[in-house]
Amino acid sequence: MNKIRNKVKLLNRVSSLEFLPNLSKKVGSRIYVKRDDEGGRGGGGNKLRKYERIIADAIDKKADTLIIAGHYQSNAARELIGASCQLGLKAVVVCKPMIPEQNSIFNQNGNALLMKLMNATLVSIGQEDEFQIEMEKVAAKIRQEGGKPYIIPFGGSNLLGALGYFDCANEIIQQFKNIENKAPNYIITPVGSGGTMAGLVAGSAIASSETKLLGFSVLHKDYTINAKVEALANEVINAVDPNTNIKPNFQIDTSFVGDAYGIPTKKGIHAIKILAQLEGLFLCPVYTSKAMSGLLNYIANNKIKREESIVFIHTGGMPLVHAYYNQYN
Ligand SMILES: *Cc1c(COP(=O)(O)O)cnc(C)c1O
Repeated sequence: MNKIRNKVKLLNRVSSLEFLPNLSKKVGSRIYVKRDDEGGRGGGGNKLRKYERIIADAIDKKADTLIIAGHYQSNAARELIGASCQLGLKAVVVCKPMIPEQNSIFNQNGNALLMKLMNATLVSIGQEDEFQIEMEKVAAKIRQEGGKPYIIPFGGSNLLGALGYFDCANEIIQQFKNIENKAPNYIITPVGSGGTMAGLVAGSAIASSETKLLGFSVLHKDYTINAKVEALANEVINAVDPNTNIKPNFQIDTSFVGDAYGIPTKKGIHAIKILAQLEGLFLCPVYTSKAMSGLLNYIANNKIKREESIVFIHTGGMPLVHAYYNQYN
């Protein structure tokens, strides 16, 4: 249980829940955003909630160097470097080009630029190399040199990481109650490695909330992600309440991924422009725009009713807006 409670503080305030009046008026549903894109070091984003317990575990195990798998435009890596700087830990990004270069400065702009400014250590590996094997090699070298490495799970999506979004679900339920005096009809999030979704699903289930949890995949195109989220949500539920028989209940739509992870979609780019122009809010081409395009599509097709209320998790990714600067025509 200690593991569940132990946290390092990476977020210094509760992220706000904001109503989007102009978008809501345009589409007819009541849309709110949970601003998890703001706050914390390294530029902020959803990984910081996950890292609060994961890094606490690393410190507990006397680790001095964090190792993460990533790519040049990885939010997860950039946020980990930011947290490491703040906490005075070392960190290594084992890096391979997971996204085809979208322009001639793709690997120098956006997250790559911010990681460079933070003096991040990047170890580049080949396209065919396995992340896990290469991370183990880096860890072995660190041990040889007398250091104590700690490998961050993929996307920060293990039990400790997902618990951060268990907390977030409770925050949302409370914040929404203060505004509308009931539960929202939907909580919507992009789904990559699935930890954000799993934590939210578990939090909502334990709170017996009637809110429907809807995720839009940005990575997996098949339903393997469903099994992954279900297993992790169950793990969180059992960790928080070992005697419960509550089951996770959620839906993930994989049809808005487009060609692949990191490749923008037409609908996503359209969503970026709509949100920027109506609300002054920026979504990124990799994650939030694809989820928002799913939400707008569901409303347009009456899968979400016009009078229903929605909380959209803004998971961050602002540096990606810049990295894809030539994709907005
Ligand atoms: C990592 C990330 C996600 C996906 O979160 P998972 O917990 O991996 O599903 C969504 N949005 C942004 C901006 C991210 O960086």
